[in-house]
Amino acid sequence: MAGIYISWPFCAQKCTYCNFASGVQPKGLESEYSAALAAEIAATDWALTPDTVYIGGGTPSAIPASDFGGLLEGIPGRPWAEATLEAAPGSLTPEKIAAWTGAGINRVSLGVQSFIRGELARTGRKHDAETVRGDVAMLRAGGIANFNLDLIAGLPGQTASSWRESLEAVVALDPPHVSVYMLEVDEDSRLGSEIILGGKRYGAFDVPSEDAVAGFYESAVAYLAGCGIERYEISNFARPGAESLHNLKYWRREPYVGLGSDAHSFDGVKRWRNPEMAVDYVARWHRGGVGREEETAAEPVEEKFFVGLRLAEGVEANASDWERFGDVFQRFLESGILVRDGDRLRLSARGVMVSNEVFQEFVG
Ligand code: SF4
Repeated sequence: MAGIYISWPFCAQKCTYCNFASGVQPKGLESEYSAALAAEIAATDWALTPDTVYIGGGTPSAIPASDFGGLLEGIPGRPWAEATLEAAPGSLTPEKIAAWTGAGINRVSLGVQSFIRGELARTGRKHDAETVRGDVAMLRAGGIANFNLDLIAGLPGQTASSWRESLEAVVALDPPHVSVYMLEVDEDSRLGSEIILGGKRYGAFDVPSEDAVAGFYESAVAYLAGCGIERYEISNFARPGAESLHNLKYWRREPYVGLGSDAHSFDGVKRWRNPEMAVDYVARWHRGGVGREEETAAEPVEEKFFVGLRLAEGVEANASDWERFGDVFQRFLESGILVRDGDRLRLSARGVMVSNEVFQEFVG
């Protein structure tokens, strides 16, 4: 079984911290992109039947209800075990939710980011806490009880008490799944360039320190666990059984096919990616081509640890892994960054905080 990722890179605004190849796009591009995407779906070899679908971006929840069904028409494997749509708070309507469920969507991921008005305003988002509460009620009323709420730790102006307020507000909505991302300001984002210029826009002068962000993250792990929402991946938390089936495929190195701009694919042996920018993806379709641009051979052993150690369950290290990485394992075990449970290795709580440095050791 495979996972299908569909990229919809159009947004109503460009969030100040965002460095994705998504955002406000040139007028007219959206309809051409839809046609290029439909052509890529039609040209896809469905050797593996998909059991999970994930539509991300971008803001796919902005697609009009009348156009939504067509997007997934060519994808086989219904009913999918899990089909997620990323949604921006404030973009939901009962008509859209009916169109989503009619097309097979059974899970929604809401990009909440914060429940604090001032923090949201600085990101460029238009919603507030009431919008999110209304959206969650609308999802439940529309038959989507399986949903994720995203939070960002490290937004400009965030404090320990405002962070706690957002955590409590999330839990009050009783979500099956929560994602907590630690903001790493990218210099290509508007916030990043404002910081470099020493400016004041977007709260650039008020970004919490790395230590503060680490503290926010650790308090989230403890608070969510106390509410029965356990961390199962560095940024992902779920009630038992509500882990994202689609995203688990990335960390367990199971096959997935990415469709649309900036989408990545992996068939178990090779990895490939599509053109990053929507304009280039559409231009390629105009030239008679669809999909893949760069292809590389997968590196099974490196990737096993590079992605697998993100999971709280860790990875099983066999004799040949020990032969190859024994020195690295030993060093991290001795320093308390890795923990050994039988044949499995996993990151300790401290290891999670330095995970990027750990993963570097496994890059070929
Ligand atoms: S953060 Fe999400 S909604 Fe905001 S610009 Fe980036 S992709 Fe669009």
